[in-house]
Amino acid sequence: MAYRVQRLYQRWQTLPIRVRGTAIVAIPITCLFMALSAFAWLKASLVEDETWVQHTQTVRLETKQLLNALIDAETGVRGYGLTQREEFLAPYKQAQTIIPPSLNRLEKLVQDNAQQTQQIQKIRTLVDDNLEIFQQKLTLQRELKRIRGQTDTLVPVASLYEWLEEGKLTMDQARQQIDRFAQTEEELLVQRIQHQDFYRQITWIILCISVVFGTIAALFAVHLFYQLERELANREINLRETNQRLEIVCDQLQRFTANASHELRAPLAAIMSNAQVGLMDLDELDDSPMKLRKRIEKIISLTKQMSTLVGDLLFLARHEGLLAPDSMESVNLTELLGSMSTEWLSQAKIHSLELTSQLPDTPVVVQGDANLLQQAIANLLSNACRYTTAGGTIELSLIRQLEQALIQVKDTGIGIPSHALPHVFERFYRADPKRSRTSGGFGLGLAIAQQIVQVHGGQISVTSTLDQGSTFQITLPLLTQYAWVKG
Ligand code: ADP
Repeated sequence: MAYRVQRLYQRWQTLPIRVRGTAIVAIPITCLFMALSAFAWLKASLVEDETWVQHTQTVRLETKQLLNALIDAETGVRGYGLTQREEFLAPYKQAQTIIPPSLNRLEKLVQDNAQQTQQIQKIRTLVDDNLEIFQQKLTLQRELKRIRGQTDTLVPVASLYEWLEEGKLTMDQARQQIDRFAQTEEELLVQRIQHQDFYRQITWIILCISVVFGTIAALFAVHLFYQLERELANREINLRETNQRLEIVCDQLQRFTANASHELRAPLAAIMSNAQVGLMDLDELDDSPMKLRKRIEKIISLTKQMSTLVGDLLFLARHEGLLAPDSMESVNLTELLGSMSTEWLSQAKIHSLELTSQLPDTPVVVQGDANLLQQAIANLLSNACRYTTAGGTIELSLIRQLEQALIQVKDTGIGIPSHALPHVFERFYRADPKRSRTSGGFGLGLAIAQQIVQVHGGQISVTSTLDQGSTFQITLPLLTQYAWVKG
């Protein structure tokens, strides 16, 4: 589970910022819409409920009115039958005006429900039957009244009971039918309310879920938004840093180009002047071949210097970045430094210096290019020879540490002023330009050594005291299988 969440999070991080921003905005908006929809539905269902209750009430009232009108009509007819007084017919007449529109209204109210429409049809038939019976009874009364005259107006006692009972069954049927109809409406209302209740509960649940989910989503969106903002700020910082780095590199490149062209121009000018003077000597038919020879020798020496400089520049350009894997091999530093110290003994002697070496008895192995490593150490030894006055000493040592090899080139030379120490590895830098030029350096030896050490994953550093000497240190990672495991 945690792994899945992590993968999801990683995938989220890889999405473009535009997509993430849209998602962050979309999450709370979706939840808000869900909550609003649920709320709107809830409100609509309440209004619908209200309408249905109203509808049932209207139907109930209408039913009551219909029943009352029917009972009034029956009572009126009975009263008239018993008393022969016209005023008893008033409710009957009124019921006649009430019943048909009431039936029409009921029919209209339930027109959507087939079962109730059917019931209304039955009620209509029964009511019509009743009204017809009432009419017949009245007609009969009136006929009797006309035949018997004004004196004997009452229904004969023998037939009174029969007269009263006539139409009772139809009236009961109509009443029952109307009651049944009202009951159906009530049941329908209960059903509808139950139905609505169920949906309302679901809507409430949806509403609560959307509110909870919406709140969580909104908090999550805020969190993501802050994260995005932090990421953007980091990117901005990175961009600014990259920009600064690029500016520094641009600066270095500019300085490098200026220095390189200056360094190349100086020997070129010297070559040119030597050649021109040589030519002039020829023109003046100066027959001193020794002079001419010296000039040509000078030209050759200057050309050699230029060739060395161009070679160094080419080297720096070629060995930028990491080493090619096929040039990597196991290099035994003990062996390499042993043979180098022997080689450099003669060189030290030329400068009247003493060269000593401190090497371990066991092999110290690193992964790399032996020729390049040899060149880096040679540059340090060459500097030690050039910047140490006669009678001084140079010490070459190798120490195996826990996970790295430490190479030291220590001299008792002129030392480097502290203000120059941070710059000695820069290209074309010379702590003392005059002295260095006389000793023939271009200020590239340490830059080359640093580049070689860096491509081997190592580090180079220097400590120095003016007029006392300098110590250059190179650390290189040991080849794992040769790494010294304590104990
Ligand atoms: P260069 O060819 O001028 O020696 P490097 O890159 O080898 O160039 O050295 C840069 C500068 O660092 C030198 O010009 C010199 O001033 C100073 N330097 C390097 N090695 C030593 C040393 N062992 N003792 C004193 N100064 C040194």
